[in-house]
Amino acid sequence: MIAVLSGGTGTPKLLWGMKEVLNDFLVVVNTAEDIWISGNRICPDIDSVIYVLSDLIDTDKWWGVRNDTFTTHKMLKMLGLDEGMMVGDKDRATHILRSELLRKGYSLLKATEKLKDSFGISQDIFPMCNEDVSTYILTERGEMHFQEFWVKNRGEPEVIGVEFRGVERARIPDEVISALNSADAVLIGPSNPVTSIGPILAVDGYKELLRKKKVVAISPIIGNQPFSGPAGKFMSALGFEVSPSGVAEMYRDFIDILVIDNRDNCWLDFADVVKANTIMKKKEDAIKLSEFVIEVI
Ligand code: GDP
Repeated sequence: MIAVLSGGTGTPKLLWGMKEVLNDFLVVVNTAEDIWISGNRICPDIDSVIYVLSDLIDTDKWWGVRNDTFTTHKMLKMLGLDEGMMVGDKDRATHILRSELLRKGYSLLKATEKLKDSFGISQDIFPMCNEDVSTYILTERGEMHFQEFWVKNRGEPEVIGVEFRGVERARIPDEVISALNSADAVLIGPSNPVTSIGPILAVDGYKELLRKKKVVAISPIIGNQPFSGPAGKFMSALGFEVSPSGVAEMYRDFIDILVIDNRDNCWLDFADVVKANTIMKKKEDAIKLSEFVIEVI
């Protein structure tokens, strides 16, 4: 059993391939980008993991459901409610069901279990915690929720720092502790180490657990920049080099093996380094990288 730690883009791309070659894995997902929009709880990273494992994800955008329509979103805008982010009609159905379950008293973990069952997914998908945690980006233009920074401001403001609000109250759910304890290895996918993996590691207990496991991480940084998104900006703001070794440095306490891209070079005295093609443009790329990582583990 492999336990995969995931954000909402890079690691879901890997899972696109992994589900074709392995059944026996589970996913622990970042929830610090979750947000209420138009009365519904959106968990962007959990949604992407659900859609990739049920083969519904839009593989052009890497969010939302393929061929979705935006009728409700457009109608709301016409009526004067700007949702601030695009929400597809089918995607919204997922958010409505989740929110109904939460209002009935389900924990986020139980609501996610019900959702993944409804989508016919056999693997376990766990939120990192049940409590609300929100990533805030401290910028020269003031503090803003991650979604406001990334979607509304297109990631443009200069970043000064990153905060995970509410994380001091968050706990690893018991189900996740036993799942991680029984896993043969933990795989940190090529997700943003600051805003996708960072919040998971900030929840009390995860780092201690990881120190006891074999941990393999795939670098989301190729050369001196991320394949996509704001990871480089955040890493620099926190004082880390934007490079595969900078990523390893962030995982220094518990990492055993770092997977870097073929074109990169990196030597670490605290972990082994292996090379592969880590760019996933086609499903075939994701399958090959998954096979490689399974072999490494
Ligand atoms: P978010 O929740 O949307 O921020 O998604 P993630 O944190 O899961 O993914 C974003 C990270 O994935 C970025 O830092 C990218 O550099 C990385 N990424 C996206 N596609 C690829 C890819 O094909 N290969 C690698 N190595 N990294 C990727």
